[in-house]
Amino acid sequence: MEALIAVDVQNDFCSGGALPVPEGDAVVEPINQLAEQLPFVVATRDWHPPDHASFAEQGGPWPVHCVRDTPGAELHPGLHAGQIDAILDAGRERDHEGYSGFEHTGLDRLLREHGVDTVHVAGLALDYCVKATALDARRAGFDVVLHAGATRAIDVHPGDAERALAELRRVGVDVVD
Ligand SMILES: [Zn+2]
Repeated sequence: MEALIAVDVQNDFCSGGALPVPEGDAVVEPINQLAEQLPFVVATRDWHPPDHASFAEQGGPWPVHCVRDTPGAELHPGLHAGQIDAILDAGRERDHEGYSGFEHTGLDRLLREHGVDTVHVAGLALDYCVKATALDARRAGFDVVLHAGATRAIDVHPGDAERALAELRRVGVDVVD
């Protein structure tokens, strides 16, 4: 049984958002195509309280983004909502980073309940939440396919995207275009 995890394809990570990933919108169509082909589709959302520890005003590295129940935290309107079987929210607690879709979300249990053994991972951003989600999926024992063409990186430090892909390959993630 295969599943797609579409990581954080939210308005704030796309053009015009609070923390836009370069070319972030470009993941929407490839993810819609993957969702069409895969029997179980989970979308994760970054879903923060207004005083989340990752925000610059709290001493964290990022501008305020994906505050729960705001338009910036909504899934990108181009995603085909009818193909999404479940939406899980990460980063809901002030002091938890929540980069991984597996962190305090019940994602592992949900996948096992559906008999999933292989997860396909795509979304935003490759060098943060996508990487963390794919690494946790491997740690949890899933076979993992990373769809590089359906991700984009922030690349705060040039080369972060390549380093993320190398790290994923090292732990046995199958990186495909
Ligand atoms: Zn966040």
